Amino acid sequence: MKSVFVSAPAKVNLALRVGARRPDGYHDLDTVFEAVDIFDDLQADLAPDLRLEISGLGENLPVDESNLVIKAAHLLQKATNTQQGAHIKVHKRIPVAGGMAGGSADAAAALLALNTLWDLELPDSRLTELAGELGSDVPFALLGGIARGTSRGEQLVSIKPGTLHGWVFLTSATGLSTPEVFHCFDEMFPAAGNPPATTQLCQALTGSDLSAIAQEMVNDLAAPAAALRTDIADICAELAEFPGKTILSGSGPTIAIFCAAEAAESLAQEMQEKFPSRTALAAIGPVTGAHIRRVEK
Ligand code: ATP
Repeated sequence: MKSVFVSAPAKVNLALRVGARRPDGYHDLDTVFEAVDIFDDLQADLAPDLRLEISGLGENLPVDESNLVIKAAHLLQKATNTQQGAHIKVHKRIPVAGGMAGGSADAAAALLALNTLWDLELPDSRLTELAGELGSDVPFALLGGIARGTSRGEQLVSIKPGTLHGWVFLTSATGLSTPEVFHCFDEMFPAAGNPPATTQLCQALTGSDLSAIAQEMVNDLAAPAAALRTDIADICAELAEFPGKTILSGSGPTIAIFCAAEAAESLAQEMQEKFPSRTALAAIGPVTGAHIRRVEK
């Protein structure tokens, strides 16, 4: 039985500038993504029907049509006219609804795995197009590294990083709905226009001066997310006295602390003691996007 094993990374937004809500319901963004070394693993076995099992952090997620993995499989079946099926197992390490694009990572992993499992031979450019149909963050989950994303975040330009970065993620057991945070943004900022440009951050990222990068980091969803979740405001207030740069990851509730790559592990231990209600995860970025680890025939 043929099997394909894929891993796909979580992301953090070093900048997330948000513009007005568009007529199609999306917001224009100017954002900078970084893929970090927290991975969801996906195994796809060739089978006559389509089935999904989830272990790890996503045990309670639905495994029906509403799951992005099944959506990705159906989209690929439709786009290529294939009737082939797969039994898919996902092991989740990326927190669910945490602002780290775990669902997008799984969708990207499924596209990549099934393209190989079903011998479809779609080029990367076509997979990226399909990824954009599944969600705004899915193309970046395929690409990885560091990239500037415009439009709704799916128009990507890679940035060559000057150095590795360290991160500590304070993740929460309770997620936060991305649409709800955007809705709250609209209420708080009814006069939002075009999103401010992230040009200076993109420039700083080509170098190795971490303080120059940290100075340009900003997230326009921080205020609406903190309005919805008091724990975000409380933790950020406590971290304001801390010398490192703290930023909300995506739409939250994960809080990300930016540091030197070699400092991440010890800082995570320190933060775990300081914030016992959260789980502190050390990570390094940038890392590669969704990638095939192994194929068994
Ligand atoms: P983003 O940062 O892209 O806004 P997020 O990290 O906040 O995303 P996800 O973990 O990607 O959030 O999941 C958002 C919602 O998508 C979940 O609440 C869940 O209902 C749904 N979902 C569907 N498929 C998956 C999946 N495979 N993994 C996680 N969530 C999924």
